[in-house]
Amino acid sequence: MEGSLVYSAAAEAEQASSGPPSAWGAVARARAFLDEQCPPSPCLVIDLATVRERYRALAEALPGAQLFYAVKANPAADVVRELVRAGASFDVASVPEIELCLAQGADPAQISYGNTIKKHADVAAAYTLGVRLFTTDSIPDVEAIAQYAPGASVFGRIMLVDTGSLTPFGRKFGCSPDMAVQVLSRAHELGLRPAGVSFHVGSQQLDPQAWDRGVREAAAVAAKLAAQDVTLPLINVGGGLPGSYTVSAPPLAEYAAAIEASVREHFGAAGLPLPSLVVEPGRFVVADAGLLRSEVVLVSRKSDDDEFRWVYLDVGRYNGMAECENEYITYLLSTPEREGEVGPVYLAGPTCDGDDVLYQRNIYRLPLALRAGDHVEFLSTGAYTASYSSIAFNGFSPLPTHCI
Ligand SMILES: *Cc1c(COP(=O)(O)O)cnc(C)c1O
Repeated sequence: MEGSLVYSAAAEAEQASSGPPSAWGAVARARAFLDEQCPPSPCLVIDLATVRERYRALAEALPGAQLFYAVKANPAADVVRELVRAGASFDVASVPEIELCLAQGADPAQISYGNTIKKHADVAAAYTLGVRLFTTDSIPDVEAIAQYAPGASVFGRIMLVDTGSLTPFGRKFGCSPDMAVQVLSRAHELGLRPAGVSFHVGSQQLDPQAWDRGVREAAAVAAKLAAQDVTLPLINVGGGLPGSYTVSAPPLAEYAAAIEASVREHFGAAGLPLPSLVVEPGRFVVADAGLLRSEVVLVSRKSDDDEFRWVYLDVGRYNGMAECENEYITYLLSTPEREGEVGPVYLAGPTCDGDDVLYQRNIYRLPLALRAGDHVEFLSTGAYTASYSSIAFNGFSPLPTHCI
């Protein structure tokens, strides 16, 4: 991928004909809103019709699965409310995220506290708010859940490394399958309800087969617990479903078929009843609903004979483009006012931080006519943009979100 040409007007036209049509509907509606309202730049526009459509597509692809939207992907109140109306459940990581979901009408029975790292006071607060489903990956945490959320259901999270995801989780969450057996068995002893094994294959996972190993290990854990007369009714396959960026992903149907086939195969082989699926989509539901419009602050060259221009935007790593870290995510770009001949650019944000560079290894090509004051749009930016923006690093405000 390094050094590849990742954007040109022609690429946009090609995507328009081959890409997901709903994403292009979102782009058109967001542009109409921006052109009419002219909100201050930069900002993110979320097309709620696309959020609805993505949620419905996933529900149809995995009938019988319970879908817990991972709130951290985009916590805009309107997004959460739209998903409450669509019948979603919610995966949260903190008490404020629980309060956000409840304020938008979610039933606490639809909320899963999926963070394995939580203070005792947060477990107690979640329980008081009505939450009865938690994820854990350690004996101390499961004991805290038993104490502060008696009788709750728990997922035991296992660790998967080297999943090939573009934005992997590393080793921070989950435990070995053997420890998951101990944790869920301890949960049972303490009067909690072991719900199932959970795992996350890493975000923006481009390989539908990546879930197979997690499902296989989950089935092995379930078999060991079955031998202790503990049955696990669910399997939680986490998030990882993709948004549309420059490197295209397989269609949703391939992911759904692969995950369902893995469950049938591994639980079937172990002679276990098939668990119901729990999925925690974040990016998939909101990414393609978002369009981020930024403004060019400066276009310059470092020397007369340099072919590359530096394009500095009013959006950067600290006010929305956090996923440009290591250039993990390469967004599709568009320059709505400019077309014509293009040339290579480095793209950077507006702050005085040397790391506030968006792309210098993946080479984007933007119109030679691009000037300060023009707009540069980032497509499919509904996930992990506004929610990652800092309060006001260097005085630049967090990214505002407009839901339409
Ligand atoms: C972030 C997260 C998700 C969502 O991941 P996506 O890749 O955005 O789908 C799901 N589950 C857990 C536990 C998470 O931390």
